[in-house]
Amino acid sequence: MRCQDCDRTAVFSGPAYCKEHFNSYFESKVDDTLARFGMAGEGDRILVAVSGGKDSLVLLRVLSRKFPNVEALSVDEGIAGYREVTHEVLRSFCQEWGITLRIVGFKEEFGKTLDVILSEKQVKPCTVCGIFRRTLLNRHSQGYDVIATGHNMDDTAQAIMMNLLKNSPSLLARQGPVSGIRSVAGLTKRIKPLYYCSEKEVMAYSILNGIVTKFIECPNVSEAYRLKVRDQLNRIEASRPGTKRRIVDWFIGISGRLKESEGKDAGRIGSCSVCGEPSANAVCSSCKMQEFISSP
Ligand SMILES: [Zn+2]
Ligand SMILES: [Zn+2]
Repeated sequence: MRCQDCDRTAVFSGPAYCKEHFNSYFESKVDDTLARFGMAGEGDRILVAVSGGKDSLVLLRVLSRKFPNVEALSVDEGIAGYREVTHEVLRSFCQEWGITLRIVGFKEEFGKTLDVILSEKQVKPCTVCGIFRRTLLNRHSQGYDVIATGHNMDDTAQAIMMNLLKNSPSLLARQGPVSGIRSVAGLTKRIKPLYYCSEKEVMAYSILNGIVTKFIECPNVSEAYRLKVRDQLNRIEASRPGTKRRIVDWFIGISGRLKESEGKDAGRIGSCSVCGEPSANAVCSSCKMQEFISSP
């Protein structure tokens, strides 16, 4: 198979491209997404939330080629045997490309590692992680213009379907390429520049450009429902190519109206009476969680 833009052999199919033309196809897709949704402009300070997986490393690489002010932030939840590996990958990657990396930990910030919290309390690991990660990303992104995450099109199509199947319009409204129903002072704007890049494309970009990751799954992974939705979507995509893209396009088409109606119901965002961070409730979920994990 030949590249559709030159005579070289294609290394990617659907669309068929050689390495060079695939790279420019992929990078311009990210550029178009950044421009279309006004995600970031020249001179912006961008913080990339990295996990050490291929999505966040590809995002870091693509953004650092385009913007001079890109830094990486990783959260150390304190999961023995898991984060050591991903942080080793991250450190060498950031060193190779001259990107500043900061690592912030649950232990230093909240007093306990996730492992310790789970050994003491009956609580779902992903609930603790979700709340504390969000708090740390926001806290440590003050002074930056945006925080970027590596969510790809497959992740988004799955999230849209899950929120539909669970009838969660308020969560559905948050699946846009620029997060948050409204912009709120004190909350850093969150962007997803890989919004239209499929998992297959991200994987191809990482392999073709020698971005090596050690795949290691979080030992607490318990998202059985998400995996079921992912498998079903993959099955439909195989027989009807373009399905995931159509799901995302459908969502983008209605998201303006959805945000408007959900924004009305969301109530006023005030600030938490304990920590002062923006919160819809008197005490924010992070402060509630901190009180819970330190109670006897
Ligand atoms: Zn070519
Ligand atoms: Zn608080």
